[in-house]
Amino acid sequence: QEMPSYIGRFAPSPSGPLHAGSLVAALASYLDARVHDGRWLVRIEDIDETRSVPGAAQDILATLAALGMRSDGPVLVQSERKPRYQEVRDELGAHIYPCGCSRREIADSRIGLAADGAAIYPGTCRKGLAPGKIARTLRLRVPDPGTAGELISFDDRWLGPQHQHLASEVGDFVLQRADGFWAYQLAVVVDDADQRVTHIVRGADLLDSIARQIYLQSLLGYATPHYMHVPLLANTSGEKLSKQNGAQALDLTQPLTELQRAAAFLQLGLKDVRDVEDFWQQALSAWDTRFGARY
Ligand code: GLU
Repeated sequence: QEMPSYIGRFAPSPSGPLHAGSLVAALASYLDARVHDGRWLVRIEDIDETRSVPGAAQDILATLAALGMRSDGPVLVQSERKPRYQEVRDELGAHIYPCGCSRREIADSRIGLAADGAAIYPGTCRKGLAPGKIARTLRLRVPDPGTAGELISFDDRWLGPQHQHLASEVGDFVLQRADGFWAYQLAVVVDDADQRVTHIVRGADLLDSIARQIYLQSLLGYATPHYMHVPLLANTSGEKLSKQNGAQALDLTQPLTELQRAAAFLQLGLKDVRDVEDFWQQALSAWDTRFGARY
C-alpha cells in the first residue's frame, strides 16, 4: 500500500467543547486533507493538564463526528505520551538548560515582549543556573542574534512569506514548565513528526509559535511540514473566540447552519446549499479551486 503523500491533522485542546472558532480550523484542515486525497488525523492536545476539562475530549470527538468529520486513524492523546517527550528532551542534550528564574524576575528584566505578550527571557541562566537559584523550568537555547540560524522564514499557504527572529522576538523558550508539564511547543513538534504530518492547517493565533516549532524540527532532524494559518473568528469585541471567554458550544441540532457559518467565515462562497451532503460537495469543490493545487 502506498503511503499517502498528504497527512493533515486537527489538534484541539480539550479545555471545553468545540466552538465556532475551533470549527473553522477543523473544517479548513479537513477540507484541505480531502481535496489532496490525504489522511486527516485528530489529536487531543491535553498536555496542559491544568486546563483540561474532564469529558471535553470525548465531547469534541462526538461533535466532529456529528458534523461528518472523523479521524482517519487512531486519535493520539498527548497526556499518554510523556515518556516519548522525555526521550526527545534527552536527545536535545546541550541545546536545553535548567532555568531558575520566575516569571516575575523575567518580567522585571524588561528585555521586551514577545509577540504573544510574554516577556522575552534575558538569558540569566544560559551559562549555568544563576547563584542561589534552583531549577524551575527547562529552556531551549535559541541561536545568538546575528548568527545564521536566528532568522526563521517560511511560506504560509494562506498568509504568504513570514519571518521571525528567534533571539530578539522570542528568546530562549520553555520546554518543560515549572509545574513539570511539557510545553505545547515540544509536544506539538514531536507529535506532528511521529504522526508523519505533512500539512498543518490551523488558526492564525498559532502563527507566532511557528518559528519555535521550525527551529525544534531542525534540531531534531524532522522535516518541516507545509503550513497554512487560517483567519481567527473573533467575538463582538474583537477578541479571539475561545473557551476562556465563554464561546458557546455548537448547536448540534443545526449541523448545516454551523458548517455553513464556518464555511462563510473562510469565504468559500457557497450558494443555495440544500442539505449537508450538498454542503460537503460545494465546500470541497470551493476549497479545491482555491487551494487544491497550492502546497
Ligand atoms: N492545541 C492547539 C489549540 O487548540 C492547536 C495546536 C496546533 O494546531 O498546532 O489551540
